[in-house]
Amino acid sequence: MPMDLNIGDRVELKKQHPCGNHIFEIARTGMDFRIKCIECGKQLWLSRSKLEKRIKKVTPKMD
Ligand SMILES: [Zn+2]
Repeated sequence: MPMDLNIGDRVELKKQHPCGNHIFEIARTGMDFRIKCIECGKQLWLSRSKLEKRIKKVTPKMD
């Protein structure tokens, strides 16, 4: 069962980004996901399966 992940959600990853931040914002969903480091703004592409394995916590977007 895939995780419910949507654009704008914030995800906390197990492994931190080189800038020291753990929180990323989902910028694009699909076969591949694009996530953006909320600290330094760098964007990464990851497959859904890789991303799901790395996620510690999801914070859904607030409307
Ligand atoms: Zn960063």
